[in-house]
Amino acid sequence: MLLRHTPKEVVDRKALMINPAKTCQPIGAMYAALGIHGCLPHSHGSQGCCAYHRSTLTRHYKEPVSASTSSFTEGASVFGGQANLMQAINNIFTVYEPDVIAVHTTCLSETIGDDLPQIRKKAQSEGKIPEGKYVLGASTPSYSGSHVTGFSNMVKSMIDLSESTDVKNGKVNIIPGWVEPSDMEEIKRMAALTGVDTIMFPDTSGVLNGPMTGEYKMFPDGGTTIEELKSTGDSIGTLALGEWCSADAARTLDKKCKVPCKVLDMPFGLKATDRFVDTMRTVAGVSVSDELVFERGQLVDMITDMHQYFYKKKVAIAGDPDQLISMVEFLVSIDMCPVHIVTGSPAGKKFIKRMEELTEGIGCEVNIKAKGDLFTLHQWMKNEPVDLLICNTYGKYIARDEDTPFLRWGFPILDRQGHQYFPTVGYKGGLRMLEKILSALMDRMDRDADDAKFELVL
Ligand code: SF4
Repeated sequence: MLLRHTPKEVVDRKALMINPAKTCQPIGAMYAALGIHGCLPHSHGSQGCCAYHRSTLTRHYKEPVSASTSSFTEGASVFGGQANLMQAINNIFTVYEPDVIAVHTTCLSETIGDDLPQIRKKAQSEGKIPEGKYVLGASTPSYSGSHVTGFSNMVKSMIDLSESTDVKNGKVNIIPGWVEPSDMEEIKRMAALTGVDTIMFPDTSGVLNGPMTGEYKMFPDGGTTIEELKSTGDSIGTLALGEWCSADAARTLDKKCKVPCKVLDMPFGLKATDRFVDTMRTVAGVSVSDELVFERGQLVDMITDMHQYFYKKKVAIAGDPDQLISMVEFLVSIDMCPVHIVTGSPAGKKFIKRMEELTEGIGCEVNIKAKGDLFTLHQWMKNEPVDLLICNTYGKYIARDEDTPFLRWGFPILDRQGHQYFPTVGYKGGLRMLEKILSALMDRMDRDADDAKFELVL
């Protein structure tokens, strides 16, 4: 009963966040940077920030996450961190030999006002960046936005590397947004099944879900290569999955290299996956492959079989805006009622409007908050109890207090394993989500059933 002091009465708060449903911008920037092959993320700030960001990613992905830091001390905090970053760039290229250093700022360097583009230029002009190596930079002040904003900003900075040669490469860029490495793998697999040649960026598959080989590699085999990033400017189009995670980068590339872009929802659940597959199929000018038709049929079959258990079950859900949009659509499509919806990211009216459209007609009153916190979600649940809570690890405290079935989903998941290996996107991911939802509901039913109703068969 760790949250036993959470009161039922909801008071409007403007200046205080309690139990945030988000984390800080640089974590997103660091995760995105890890999706470039041979890239070392660099935190331009104090060691403490970098340690926190690395450890959060390491705890979620259960893989060692390397990153360097400008290691600000009192001097840098007063006079600026330019000297630290110049020295860091020199040291990193000399000692670790990455292909790219992806620098992101922190609250401290942003507050001082360090000018990242100027420092990068200076490093270039002073020969601190070796031939064929690159330094990217993203501004990621954590007092605005969230990890989603940081991810988006770092992906946008990757467009710096894109080049346009006027000869199209026949490929489609896919910006997957902040999803698990397993999800990125699955999105690539689905795209390949439609026969489309793709460049995914960033791509953390094979980086944060790689195999145990007995050999430590500072830069794992996975990730988008520099050549691929350069080539994105010659692609025939870009598919950005998620308005908040990916659209900015896609639009920037369009502006820079005239690569037309389309923004789609992340392919969670039946309908959003259908839209993804249909778009890929249209680009390729082919029919949907038999494999995908088969997988879709399996998902529809499972929905049909399980529907009676989902019908009108109330759900509270917290997560990132792009993920929530498709997941709420999925829940509504299987006749569940997402009645409390919270994102910690400042997704604004656009998000709320979309959620209202998606939940229209579900027959329940729906609470929605963009830039809300888990405290609010907990209070809502006290006033309107639910049958299931879907949230990152931090939801476990609420679930325990309210004795509510709990499904871990989103970022971070710190107390379970496997999410980096099993996708929840696509038709196959939909199957996994359904299985997890049903198991959570059935485990509760079994726990509470008296002997006469303790069923052996579903
Ligand atoms: S919120 Fe700011 S100061 Fe705190 S860890 Fe994140 S970047 Fe560092």
